[in-house]
Amino acid sequence: MRNDTKSKLKKARRWEEFVCPECDAHNPYGAEFEVGDEVFCCWCGCSFDVRSDPDDDDRFRLRRA
Ligand SMILES: [Zn+2]
Repeated sequence: MRNDTKSKLKKARRWEEFVCPECDAHNPYGAEFEVGDEVFCCWCGCSFDVRSDPDDDDRFRLRRA
């Protein structure tokens, strides 16, 4: 019998800034956000859902909310 105790610790990645996909403005957010949060651009006012990037755990994607 095998005793397989593999613990996967995946800590949530957080970011403090993003570039708006709509107007290309850099937004220092002032607070940390993570996947599942909603952020908005303070230049054009668009809001976005923060999604994970399937290609890179260290990055995120913004989808228009
Ligand atoms: Zn914007």
